This record gives sequence, C-alpha cells and structure tokens, in this order.
Amino acid sequence: MPVEAGRSRAATAEPGPVQSACCPPPCLPDLGRCCGPDHEHVHDRGTVRRERIVIIGAGPAGVAAAAQCRRLGIAPLLVDRNGVAGGLIENAFCVENYPGLEQPLSGPRFADRLREHLNRFGLGVESVEVTGVNRWADGFRLSCEQGVILTRTVIVACGTQPCRLGVAGEHGLEGRHLFYEVRTLLRQHPRPRQVLVIGGGEAACDYALTLAAAGARVHIVVRGPCLKARGSLARAVSATPRVRVFYAAECQDVAASPGFVVRLADVVTGRSFAESPEALLVAVGRRSAAPSLLEPLGEGVASSGAWSTPGLFLAGDARGGALGQIAMAVGEGIAAAGSAVAFLQRCNLADC
Ligand SMILES: Cc1cc2nc3c(=O)[nH]c(=O)nc-3n(C[C@H](O)[C@H](O)[C@H](O)COP(=O)(O)OP(=O)(O)OC[C@H]3O[C@@H](n4cnc5c(N)ncnc54)[C@H](O)[C@@H]3O)c2cc1C
Repeated sequence: MPVEAGRSRAATAEPGPVQSACCPPPCLPDLGRCCGPDHEHVHDRGTVRRERIVIIGAGPAGVAAAAQCRRLGIAPLLVDRNGVAGGLIENAFCVENYPGLEQPLSGPRFADRLREHLNRFGLGVESVEVTGVNRWADGFRLSCEQGVILTRTVIVACGTQPCRLGVAGEHGLEGRHLFYEVRTLLRQHPRPRQVLVIGGGEAACDYALTLAAAGARVHIVVRGPCLKARGSLARAVSATPRVRVFYAAECQDVAASPGFVVRLADVVTGRSFAESPEALLVAVGRRSAAPSLLEPLGEGVASSGAWSTPGLFLAGDARGGALGQIAMAVGEGIAAAGSAVAFLQRCNLADC
C-alpha cells in the first residue's frame, strides 16, 4: 500500500470487543495522530504525510512497540517493506525459548501469532520501504519510494541484513541460485532438493533443519573443525541423516555457467574441489540494518546501539547490531514505545 491519502487501518479502527485492553488509561491523553492535514501533495512528486510515531519494521520488536504505543494512547504508523508483520522469525525451524508458549512453534506459526497480536490492538502494517531517515524541523523526514513521511518520533526496528560471502559471482546469482533466507529459497519453483549451506552458526544449523524437513539433502560447509552452534541445535543436526557437514572448508567462488557450481577449498591443504548443488544458502552472520538507513543523519551512527538524537529510538536486532533473540527484541520494542510516548508528552504534543 503506498504512502498516500487516507489514514492507516490503525487510525480508523473502531474499538472491537477485545480492545478494552488497548484503550488509553485515564491518566494519559489519547494523542492520536498529529493534528493538521494528514498529507499534502508537493510538486506532484508524491505525498507528504504527517505522523507522531512511525515504527520502521514489523518484526517482533516493531510489533511489540506498536501494541505498546496503542496501549499508551497513540496509534502509531507501522511500516514494513514486506507489507506484513513477522520479520526474520518466519525463517526459524522451531521457536522454543519464548516465554509463555504452550508448546514450541515453527517460525511461520510464531509470525502468525505476531499478526494476531496486532489485530487484537486494531493495528495494521503498511507496505512501505523507508530508504532514509533525516532530520526535519523538530522531527524526522522519512524518504520512501511513494513519498515522504514527516514524524515527530521514529522507532527504528528494521532488524539486520545478511553479511555477504564476498566471493566472485555472488552478486549476480542472488535470488536465482544463491539465497540469504531459507523462506525465500523455499518459495522457489521447483524447490531445490540439494542445498549447500555456508556457515556453522545457529542460523545455518536452523536453516539446515528446515531444509531437511522440507525434503532437501543438505551439506553444511564450515571453516573450522566443528560447528559454532552448540547444544540442542548442533545435536539435532548430527541426528538428521539428510544433513552432512564439511569441516575445514571455505567457499572460493560461485558460477552459473554452464551449470551452478560452488568452488570450495580445504582450508588445511588448500586443495580446491567443486560442488554442484541446486541452491546455495549463505548464513555467515547478520549485522544491523540501521546504519545505512540512518546515514543521512550523519554523526552518531549506532554502532553500539546507543543513539543520541532526541526523538529517535532503536529496538531489537537493529539496536543489538547482530542476530539476537525474540524476547530481547520484544522487550526493547516495548521500552522504545514508552520512551517515544514520554518524549511526545514532554513536548506537550497533546495540545498541538
Ligand atoms: C533461522 C533463525 C532462527 C531463529 N530462531 C530463533 C529462536 O528460536 N528464538 C529466538 O528468540 N530468536 C530466534 N531467531 C532470532 C529472531 O528471529 C530475531 O532476533 C528477531 O526476529 C529480531 O526481531 P526484530 O524485530 O528486531 O527484527 P526482524 O525480525 O529482523 O524484523 C525487521 C523488519 O524490518 C523490516 N525492514 C527492514 N528494513 C526496512 C526498511 N528500510 N523499510 C521498511 N521495513 C524494513 C524487515 O522487512 C523486517 O520485517 C532466529 C533467527 C533466525 C535467522
């Protein structure tokens, strides 16, 4: 949905029967949206929309932040480039460590729960990709393909982006033979049945289990003499016959002509050898997606997660700088929402 005329579902939702929990408490005014026109056209180049709180990213951190803003009396604008809530957890094989679950859930089922959570609070997600955050007057200017959003506060919950292998051929093959998330790979037709996974950490092992459960034969390639993942994930990988591990090997390059070939090298002997899987899944780490988004703000980019710009709050993996855990993301989302609402109250925005 473009950034355009009209309020989001969040702003128009009528209180339903289960919404009593999200009505503003009597001590807090319902600040609602910024007063004045919600949007205006500028030079026919798109639309400008005004908000009080915009949340970038509808993963666990963004969803928790949105619901908490609503509970505190403000309907935020929640945007995600995917147009739906869920975030990275959609990729998880099995979520078993989130407190309060009656039983372990698959990543897609957990993402369904996040969407149900938003629904309960009368909130929706708008399909918007934010390309840059800049200062504007006493707030922020968010650039998006469809226009501009002006907002007094922004919660950056945009998660992480994958680290690249950095080998020849990688760039041109992304989305064809080479993937960074298992759900994207599994959407391919026909679905790849022989998959090489690069990386020996938790995400790589988790992906391997998902692929094996979907019927693929999986080879994990790790540089060291053992998997980096520990505990139940490593044990599950060892116990899955469809998954094998190549130790002490690294990827040298990839090519798709005439067929898809991944060249690997033994890190001890230096000997090269080629593999011809149907797909390559790269899981060699993730880093915060916030610095590139916040680059226009200049100084103070949040390498440590701390951010000095008043009115801007980071939450979840974007704040942590790398892959974290859902419970941490949710806690930080709730804390960011509290800070954003307190900031607006300090600015007396109830009266604007
Ligand atoms: C394979 C795997 C298994 C995992 N298993 C577990 C587990 O069992 N337990 C656990 O606790 N954690 C697990 N995790 C970690 C968990 O998924 C993350 O810690 C969590 O999703 C972080 O939430 P987040 O909201 O900070 O970010 P994300 O979930 O990454 O969400 C960020 C959202 O922001 C959106 N976005 C990004 N940039 C923009 C932009 N510019 N404009 C608009 N939208 C944007 C993205 O589309 C995304 O939806 C796992 C992760 C992986 C990869």
